[in-house]
Amino acid sequence: MRQSNERQLSDQLLPLRRTLWVVLTYLVVGFAWIAFSDRLVESWFQDPEALSRVQTWKGFFFVLVTGLVLFSVLLRQLYKDRSLLKLQHGQRQALRARERQLTVLMDNLPGMAYRCRYDSQWTMLFVSDGCIELTGYEPAALVNNRQVSFADLMDDATNKRLQQDVKAALNQGKPFSVEYALKRKNGARIWVWERGRGVVEDSGETVLEGIVLDISDRKALENELSELATRDPLTGLLNRRELTRLMEEELERAKRYQRTMALLWIDFDHFKDVNDTYGHAAGDSVLKAVSRLLLDSVRAVDSVGRFGGEEFVIVLPEMEVAEARETADRLRRQVGSLPQPLGDGRTVPLTISVGVAVYPSHGLTAAALCAAADKAMYRAKERGRNCVSMAHLSEHVHNDA
Ligand code: GH3
Ligand code: MG
Ligand code: MG
Repeated sequence: MRQSNERQLSDQLLPLRRTLWVVLTYLVVGFAWIAFSDRLVESWFQDPEALSRVQTWKGFFFVLVTGLVLFSVLLRQLYKDRSLLKLQHGQRQALRARERQLTVLMDNLPGMAYRCRYDSQWTMLFVSDGCIELTGYEPAALVNNRQVSFADLMDDATNKRLQQDVKAALNQGKPFSVEYALKRKNGARIWVWERGRGVVEDSGETVLEGIVLDISDRKALENELSELATRDPLTGLLNRRELTRLMEEELERAKRYQRTMALLWIDFDHFKDVNDTYGHAAGDSVLKAVSRLLLDSVRAVDSVGRFGGEEFVIVLPEMEVAEARETADRLRRQVGSLPQPLGDGRTVPLTISVGVAVYPSHGLTAAALCAAADKAMYRAKERGRNCVSMAHLSEHVHNDA
Protein backbone atom coordinates (compact mmCIF):
# COMPACT_ATOMS: atom_id res chain seq x y z
CA MET A 1 0.00 0.00 0.00
CA ARG A 2 2.72 2.42 1.09
CA GLN A 3 4.86 1.29 -1.82
CA SER A 4 2.09 1.94 -4.37
CA ASN A 5 1.55 5.42 -2.83
CA GLU A 6 5.24 6.17 -3.20
CA ARG A 7 5.21 4.94 -6.78
CA GLN A 8 2.25 7.20 -7.56
CA LEU A 9 4.08 10.19 -6.03
CA SER A 10 7.21 9.58 -8.05
CA ASP A 11 5.27 9.13 -11.34
CA GLN A 12 5.71 12.55 -13.06
CA LEU A 13 3.29 11.80 -15.96
CA LEU A 14 0.36 10.73 -13.80
CA PRO A 15 -1.51 14.12 -13.77
CA LEU A 16 -1.23 14.49 -17.58
CA ARG A 17 -2.41 10.92 -18.15
CA ARG A 18 -5.40 11.37 -15.84
CA THR A 19 -6.41 14.67 -17.48
CA LEU A 20 -6.21 13.08 -20.96
CA TRP A 21 -8.46 10.21 -19.80
CA VAL A 22 -11.06 12.61 -18.39
CA VAL A 23 -11.07 14.79 -21.55
CA LEU A 24 -11.23 11.73 -23.81
CA THR A 25 -14.18 10.35 -21.84
CA TYR A 26 -15.91 13.75 -22.04
CA LEU A 27 -15.37 13.93 -25.83
CA VAL A 28 -16.63 10.39 -26.41
CA VAL A 29 -19.69 10.90 -24.21
CA GLY A 30 -20.31 14.37 -25.79
CA PHE A 31 -20.04 13.13 -29.39
CA ALA A 32 -22.14 10.06 -28.62
CA TRP A 33 -24.82 12.22 -26.97
CA ILE A 34 -24.96 14.64 -29.93
CA ALA A 35 -25.11 11.82 -32.52
CA PHE A 36 -27.60 9.54 -30.75
CA SER A 37 -29.86 12.19 -29.26
CA ASP A 38 -30.18 13.98 -32.68
CA ARG A 39 -31.18 10.74 -34.40
CA LEU A 40 -33.64 9.85 -31.58
CA VAL A 41 -35.27 13.30 -31.58
CA GLU A 42 -35.61 13.33 -35.43
CA SER A 43 -37.40 9.97 -35.32
CA TRP A 44 -39.79 11.15 -32.60
CA PHE A 45 -40.58 14.68 -33.74
CA GLN A 46 -41.43 15.24 -37.46
CA ASP A 47 -42.79 18.74 -37.00
CA PRO A 48 -39.84 21.11 -37.82
CA GLU A 49 -41.01 23.71 -35.30
CA ALA A 50 -41.31 21.19 -32.45
CA LEU A 51 -38.00 19.64 -33.52
CA SER A 52 -36.24 23.02 -33.34
CA ARG A 53 -37.67 23.64 -29.81
CA VAL A 54 -36.64 20.17 -28.63
CA GLN A 55 -33.16 20.77 -30.11
CA THR A 56 -32.89 24.02 -28.09
CA TRP A 57 -34.01 22.25 -24.84
CA LYS A 58 -31.59 19.42 -25.63
CA GLY A 59 -28.80 22.03 -25.89
CA PHE A 60 -29.86 23.56 -22.54
CA PHE A 61 -29.94 20.07 -20.99
CA PHE A 62 -26.42 19.29 -22.26
CA VAL A 63 -25.05 22.56 -20.93
CA LEU A 64 -26.82 21.92 -17.56
CA VAL A 65 -25.42 18.40 -17.20
CA THR A 66 -21.87 19.40 -18.19
CA GLY A 67 -22.16 22.42 -15.86
CA LEU A 68 -23.21 20.15 -12.95
CA VAL A 69 -20.39 17.73 -13.67
CA LEU A 70 -17.90 20.60 -13.87
CA PHE A 71 -19.32 22.04 -10.61
CA SER A 72 -18.96 18.77 -8.70
CA VAL A 73 -15.46 18.07 -10.06
CA LEU A 74 -14.21 21.60 -9.27
CA LEU A 75 -15.84 21.61 -5.83
CA ARG A 76 -14.28 18.26 -4.94
CA GLN A 77 -10.84 19.39 -6.15
CA LEU A 78 -10.97 22.74 -4.32
CA TYR A 79 -12.07 21.05 -1.06
CA LYS A 80 -9.22 18.60 -1.50
CA ASP A 81 -6.74 21.45 -2.10
CA ARG A 82 -7.98 23.31 0.96
CA SER A 83 -7.67 20.33 3.31
CA LEU A 84 -4.22 19.62 1.82
CA LEU A 85 -3.13 23.21 2.53
CA LYS A 86 -4.53 22.96 6.07
CA LEU A 87 -2.61 19.72 6.62
CA GLN A 88 0.59 21.25 5.27
CA HIS A 89 0.18 24.31 7.49
CA GLY A 90 -0.41 22.12 10.58
CA GLN A 91 2.60 19.97 9.73
CA ARG A 92 4.81 23.00 9.22
CA GLN A 93 3.74 24.45 12.57
CA ALA A 94 4.35 21.13 14.36
CA LEU A 95 7.77 20.90 12.70
CA ARG A 96 8.65 24.44 13.80
CA ALA A 97 7.50 23.70 17.36
CA ARG A 98 9.59 20.52 17.40
CA GLU A 99 12.63 22.41 16.09
CA ARG A 100 12.14 25.03 18.81
CA GLN A 101 11.89 22.33 21.50
CA LEU A 102 14.97 20.61 20.13
CA THR A 103 16.97 23.85 20.16
CA VAL A 104 15.91 24.59 23.76
CA LEU A 105 16.82 21.03 24.72
CA MET A 106 20.22 21.21 22.99
CA ASP A 107 21.04 24.59 24.53
CA ASN A 108 20.18 23.40 28.02
CA LEU A 109 21.74 19.98 27.71
CA PRO A 110 24.74 19.54 29.98
CA GLY A 111 27.76 18.94 27.76
CA MET A 112 27.76 18.70 23.98
CA ALA A 113 25.34 16.91 21.68
CA TYR A 114 26.88 15.79 18.40
CA ARG A 115 26.39 14.06 15.12
CA CYS A 116 29.60 12.87 13.50
CA ARG A 117 31.05 10.73 10.75
CA TYR A 118 32.32 7.29 11.74
CA ASP A 119 35.92 8.00 10.63
CA SER A 120 39.34 8.23 12.27
CA GLN A 121 38.94 12.02 12.71
CA TRP A 122 35.44 11.78 14.24
CA THR A 123 34.48 14.49 11.71
CA MET A 124 31.66 16.48 13.31
CA LEU A 125 28.60 17.16 11.15
CA PHE A 126 26.79 18.98 13.94
CA VAL A 127 27.67 20.02 17.50
CA SER A 128 25.47 21.86 20.00
CA ASP A 129 26.54 25.14 21.62
CA GLY A 130 27.70 23.14 24.67
CA CYS A 131 30.83 22.58 22.56
CA ILE A 132 32.20 25.99 23.64
CA GLU A 133 32.03 25.20 27.35
CA LEU A 134 33.31 21.66 26.87
CA THR A 135 36.20 22.18 24.44
CA GLY A 136 36.71 25.94 24.27
CA TYR A 137 36.12 25.86 20.49
CA GLU A 138 33.14 27.38 18.62
CA PRO A 139 30.91 24.79 16.90
CA ALA A 140 31.94 26.20 13.51
CA ALA A 141 35.61 25.43 14.27
CA LEU A 142 34.85 21.75 14.88
CA VAL A 143 32.22 21.05 12.22
CA ASN A 144 33.84 19.42 9.16
CA ASN A 145 37.23 19.74 10.94
CA ARG A 146 37.39 23.36 9.79
CA GLN A 147 39.89 24.43 12.46
CA VAL A 148 40.41 21.32 14.50
CA SER A 149 39.10 17.76 14.43
CA PHE A 150 37.62 16.04 17.48
CA ALA A 151 40.40 13.45 17.17
CA ASP A 152 42.97 16.27 17.58
CA LEU A 153 41.58 16.85 21.08
CA MET A 154 42.47 13.32 22.23
CA ASP A 155 45.78 11.47 22.27
CA ASP A 156 46.46 8.64 19.80
CA ALA A 157 46.09 5.84 22.35
CA THR A 158 42.67 7.18 23.42
CA ASN A 159 41.55 7.50 19.81
CA LYS A 160 42.57 3.89 19.10
CA ARG A 161 40.76 2.57 22.17
CA LEU A 162 37.68 4.63 21.28
CA GLN A 163 37.66 3.25 17.73
CA GLN A 164 37.75 -0.30 19.14
CA ASP A 165 34.99 0.32 21.69
CA VAL A 166 32.69 2.00 19.15
CA LYS A 167 33.33 -0.72 16.57
CA ALA A 168 32.47 -3.45 19.07
CA ALA A 169 29.24 -1.65 20.07
CA LEU A 170 28.20 -1.05 16.45
CA ASN A 171 28.85 -4.69 15.56
CA GLN A 172 26.45 -5.70 18.32
CA GLY A 173 23.95 -3.02 17.32
CA LYS A 174 24.16 -1.49 20.80
CA PRO A 175 24.80 2.07 22.05
CA PHE A 176 28.29 2.74 23.42
CA SER A 177 29.48 4.67 26.46
CA VAL A 178 33.13 5.51 27.00
CA GLU A 179 35.31 7.63 29.29
CA TYR A 180 38.45 9.37 28.12
CA ALA A 181 40.59 12.49 28.51
CA LEU A 182 40.26 15.50 26.18
CA LYS A 183 42.56 18.48 25.64
CA ARG A 184 40.69 21.80 25.71
CA LYS A 185 41.62 24.80 23.54
CA ASN A 186 43.44 26.40 26.51
CA GLY A 187 45.54 23.23 26.90
CA ALA A 188 43.73 22.02 30.04
CA ARG A 189 43.01 18.30 30.24
CA ILE A 190 39.50 17.25 31.17
CA TRP A 191 37.79 13.90 31.61
CA VAL A 192 34.66 13.25 29.58
CA TRP A 193 31.96 10.60 29.38
CA GLU A 194 30.42 9.92 26.01
CA ARG A 195 27.30 7.99 25.10
CA GLY A 196 26.29 7.50 21.50
CA ARG A 197 24.88 5.14 18.91
CA GLY A 198 25.32 4.41 15.24
CA VAL A 199 22.64 5.56 12.80
CA VAL A 200 22.46 4.43 9.17
CA GLU A 201 21.64 7.34 6.85
CA ASP A 202 19.40 7.05 3.76
CA SER A 203 22.63 7.16 1.74
CA GLY A 204 23.81 4.00 3.52
CA GLU A 205 26.55 5.83 5.47
CA THR A 206 26.81 5.12 9.22
CA VAL A 207 27.00 8.25 11.38
CA LEU A 208 27.25 8.53 15.16
CA GLU A 209 24.92 10.55 17.38
CA GLY A 210 25.30 11.18 21.08
CA ILE A 211 26.40 13.45 23.91
CA VAL A 212 29.74 14.19 25.59
CA LEU A 213 29.77 15.30 29.25
CA ASP A 214 32.54 16.80 31.37
CA ILE A 215 33.13 14.43 34.30
CA SER A 216 36.37 16.00 35.59
CA ASP A 217 34.82 16.75 39.00
CA ARG A 218 33.64 13.18 39.40
CA LYS A 219 37.07 11.87 38.34
CA ALA A 220 38.84 14.14 40.84
CA LEU A 221 36.51 12.91 43.57
CA GLU A 222 37.13 9.30 42.56
CA ASN A 223 40.90 9.86 42.71
CA GLU A 224 40.57 11.57 46.06
CA LEU A 225 38.50 8.69 47.40
CA SER A 226 40.93 6.10 46.10
CA GLU A 227 43.81 8.10 47.68
CA LEU A 228 41.90 8.16 50.95
CA ALA A 229 41.29 4.45 50.72
CA THR A 230 44.90 3.53 49.96
CA ARG A 231 47.06 6.20 51.64
CA ASP A 232 47.96 7.08 55.19
CA PRO A 233 46.75 10.68 55.65
CA LEU A 234 49.67 11.80 57.88
CA THR A 235 52.65 10.55 55.88
CA GLY A 236 51.13 9.99 52.42
CA LEU A 237 52.60 6.49 52.42
CA LEU A 238 50.50 3.42 51.53
CA ASN A 239 48.21 2.34 54.35
CA ARG A 240 48.22 -1.10 55.93
CA ARG A 241 45.43 -2.49 53.74
CA GLU A 242 46.96 -1.31 50.46
CA LEU A 243 50.47 -2.47 51.36
CA THR A 244 49.11 -5.88 52.37
CA ARG A 245 47.32 -6.11 49.03
CA LEU A 246 50.50 -5.14 47.15
CA MET A 247 52.55 -7.59 49.24
CA GLU A 248 50.21 -10.45 48.31
CA GLU A 249 50.28 -9.43 44.64
CA GLU A 250 54.10 -9.27 44.69
CA LEU A 251 54.30 -12.61 46.46
CA GLU A 252 52.11 -14.23 43.79
CA ARG A 253 54.48 -12.87 41.14
CA ALA A 254 57.51 -14.12 43.06
CA LYS A 255 55.97 -17.60 43.28
CA ARG A 256 55.02 -17.67 39.61
CA TYR A 257 58.47 -16.61 38.36
CA GLN A 258 60.42 -18.29 41.19
CA ARG A 259 61.92 -15.08 42.43
CA THR A 260 62.67 -13.80 45.91
CA MET A 261 60.92 -10.97 47.79
CA ALA A 262 62.09 -9.21 50.95
CA LEU A 263 60.11 -7.56 53.73
CA LEU A 264 61.54 -4.94 56.14
CA TRP A 265 59.68 -4.35 59.40
CA ILE A 266 60.73 -1.00 60.93
CA ASP A 267 59.92 0.47 64.34
CA PHE A 268 61.25 3.76 65.81
CA ASP A 269 63.29 3.41 68.97
CA HIS A 270 61.93 5.12 72.09
CA PHE A 271 59.54 7.17 70.04
CA LYS A 272 57.25 7.63 73.01
CA ASP A 273 60.00 9.74 74.57
CA VAL A 274 59.92 12.12 71.56
CA ASN A 275 56.18 12.61 72.05
CA ASP A 276 56.50 12.97 75.80
CA THR A 277 59.35 15.49 75.55
CA TYR A 278 58.37 17.61 72.53
CA GLY A 279 54.66 16.94 72.11
CA HIS A 280 52.52 14.98 69.65
CA ALA A 281 52.80 17.57 66.85
CA ALA A 282 56.60 17.37 66.96
CA GLY A 283 56.28 13.55 66.89
CA ASP A 284 54.12 13.86 63.77
CA SER A 285 56.76 16.02 62.13
CA VAL A 286 59.40 13.34 62.80
CA LEU A 287 57.07 10.65 61.43
CA LYS A 288 56.65 12.64 58.21
CA ALA A 289 60.38 13.35 57.81
CA VAL A 290 61.41 9.72 58.30
CA SER A 291 58.63 8.55 55.95
CA ARG A 292 60.03 10.84 53.24
CA LEU A 293 63.54 9.60 53.91
CA LEU A 294 62.51 5.94 53.66
CA LEU A 295 60.58 6.58 50.45
CA ASP A 296 63.50 8.43 48.86
CA SER A 297 65.99 5.74 49.86
CA VAL A 298 64.37 2.75 48.13
CA ARG A 299 63.95 1.76 44.47
CA ALA A 300 60.94 2.77 42.37
CA VAL A 301 59.70 -0.84 42.39
CA ASP A 302 59.69 -1.01 46.20
CA SER A 303 56.59 -0.12 48.23
CA VAL A 304 56.70 1.70 51.56
CA GLY A 305 53.71 1.61 53.93
CA ARG A 306 52.80 2.77 57.40
CA PHE A 307 51.37 -0.17 59.27
CA GLY A 308 50.29 1.83 62.29
CA GLY A 309 51.82 4.14 64.93
CA GLU A 310 55.53 4.37 64.17
CA GLU A 311 55.73 0.99 62.47
CA PHE A 312 56.66 0.89 58.78
CA VAL A 313 56.85 -2.00 56.32
CA ILE A 314 58.79 -2.03 53.05
CA VAL A 315 58.19 -4.62 50.29
CA LEU A 316 61.29 -5.21 48.13
CA PRO A 317 60.56 -7.41 45.07
CA GLU A 318 63.32 -9.65 43.68
CA MET A 319 65.66 -9.11 46.62
CA GLU A 320 67.88 -11.83 48.09
CA VAL A 321 68.66 -12.25 51.80
CA ALA A 322 72.10 -10.60 51.68
CA GLU A 323 70.93 -7.60 49.69
CA ALA A 324 67.89 -7.20 51.97
CA ARG A 325 70.11 -7.15 55.03
CA GLU A 326 72.36 -4.54 53.40
CA THR A 327 69.36 -2.39 52.41
CA ALA A 328 67.92 -2.59 55.95
CA ASP A 329 71.27 -1.60 57.43
CA ARG A 330 71.68 1.25 54.96
CA LEU A 331 68.26 2.63 55.93
CA ARG A 332 69.08 2.22 59.64
CA ARG A 333 72.33 4.17 59.20
CA GLN A 334 70.64 6.85 57.09
CA VAL A 335 67.94 7.54 59.69
CA GLY A 336 70.43 7.47 62.57
CA SER A 337 73.00 9.70 60.87
CA LEU A 338 70.75 12.78 60.64
CA PRO A 339 68.76 14.37 63.47
CA GLN A 340 65.07 14.56 62.53
CA PRO A 341 63.16 17.88 62.33
CA LEU A 342 60.54 18.59 65.02
CA GLY A 343 58.78 21.17 62.86
CA ASP A 344 59.73 24.18 64.98
CA GLY A 345 63.32 24.53 63.79
CA ARG A 346 64.69 22.11 66.37
CA THR A 347 65.78 18.53 65.66
CA VAL A 348 66.00 15.27 67.58
CA PRO A 349 68.23 12.24 67.05
CA LEU A 350 66.28 9.08 66.19
CA THR A 351 67.19 5.47 65.53
CA ILE A 352 65.20 2.56 64.14
CA SER A 353 65.13 -1.19 64.65
CA VAL A 354 64.58 -3.35 61.58
CA GLY A 355 63.43 -6.94 61.16
CA VAL A 356 64.06 -8.62 57.80
CA ALA A 357 62.24 -11.62 56.29
CA VAL A 358 62.72 -12.94 52.75
CA TYR A 359 60.52 -15.19 50.61
CA PRO A 360 60.96 -18.15 50.38
CA SER A 361 63.65 -18.60 53.09
CA HIS A 362 61.67 -17.17 56.00
CA GLY A 363 58.08 -17.86 55.01
CA LEU A 364 55.87 -18.85 52.11
CA THR A 365 52.81 -16.68 52.77
CA ALA A 366 52.35 -12.96 53.39
CA ALA A 367 51.12 -13.66 56.93
CA ALA A 368 54.10 -15.94 57.68
CA LEU A 369 56.56 -13.37 56.31
CA CYS A 370 54.97 -10.53 58.30
CA ALA A 371 55.07 -12.57 61.51
CA ALA A 372 58.71 -13.54 60.86
CA ALA A 373 59.78 -9.92 60.13
CA ASP A 374 57.86 -8.60 63.15
CA LYS A 375 59.54 -11.19 65.43
CA ALA A 376 62.94 -10.32 63.97
CA MET A 377 62.27 -6.63 64.71
CA TYR A 378 61.54 -7.47 68.35
CA ARG A 379 64.82 -9.38 68.52
CA ALA A 380 66.55 -6.24 67.24
CA LYS A 381 64.91 -4.32 70.09
CA GLU A 382 66.11 -6.94 72.57
CA ARG A 383 69.62 -6.68 71.20
CA GLY A 384 69.74 -3.03 72.21
CA ARG A 385 67.83 -1.29 69.36
CA ASN A 386 69.35 0.64 66.40
CA CYS A 387 70.14 -2.63 64.66
CA VAL A 388 68.95 -5.06 61.99
CA SER A 389 67.85 -8.59 62.77
CA MET A 390 67.19 -11.37 60.25
CA ALA A 391 64.21 -13.71 60.59
CA HIS A 392 64.88 -17.35 61.47
CA LEU A 393 64.83 -19.82 58.61
CA SER A 394 61.35 -21.28 58.37
CA GLU A 395 60.61 -24.98 58.99
CA HIS A 396 60.34 -25.99 55.35
CA VAL A 397 63.84 -24.61 54.67
CA HIS A 398 65.19 -26.49 57.69
CA ASN A 399 63.53 -29.67 56.50
CA ASP A 400 64.89 -29.23 52.94
CA ALA A 401 68.35 -28.66 54.38
P1 GH3 B 1 60.41 1.04 71.38
O1 GH3 B 1 61.79 1.42 71.14
O2 GH3 B 1 60.26 -0.09 72.30
O3 GH3 B 1 59.61 0.85 70.14
O4 GH3 B 1 59.80 2.27 72.15
P2 GH3 B 1 58.63 3.21 71.74
O5 GH3 B 1 58.56 4.34 72.66
O6 GH3 B 1 58.77 3.57 70.30
O7 GH3 B 1 57.44 2.25 71.99
P3 GH3 B 1 56.25 1.91 71.04
O8 GH3 B 1 56.78 1.57 69.72
O9 GH3 B 1 55.43 0.87 71.73
O10 GH3 B 1 55.47 3.26 71.08
C1 GH3 B 1 54.95 3.84 69.98
C2 GH3 B 1 54.66 5.27 70.28
O11 GH3 B 1 54.46 5.95 69.10
C3 GH3 B 1 53.45 5.47 71.12
C4 GH3 B 1 52.84 6.74 70.63
O12 GH3 B 1 53.08 7.77 71.53
C5 GH3 B 1 53.61 7.01 69.37
N1 GH3 B 1 52.74 7.21 68.23
C6 GH3 B 1 51.97 6.29 67.63
N2 GH3 B 1 51.30 6.85 66.60
C7 GH3 B 1 51.62 8.15 66.56
C8 GH3 B 1 51.24 9.24 65.74
O13 GH3 B 1 50.47 9.14 64.81
N3 GH3 B 1 51.81 10.44 66.00
C9 GH3 B 1 52.68 10.62 67.05
N4 GH3 B 1 53.19 11.82 67.25
N5 GH3 B 1 53.03 9.62 67.83
C10 GH3 B 1 52.52 8.40 67.61
MG1 MG C 1 58.79 2.10 68.81
MG1 MG D 1 55.83 0.63 67.82
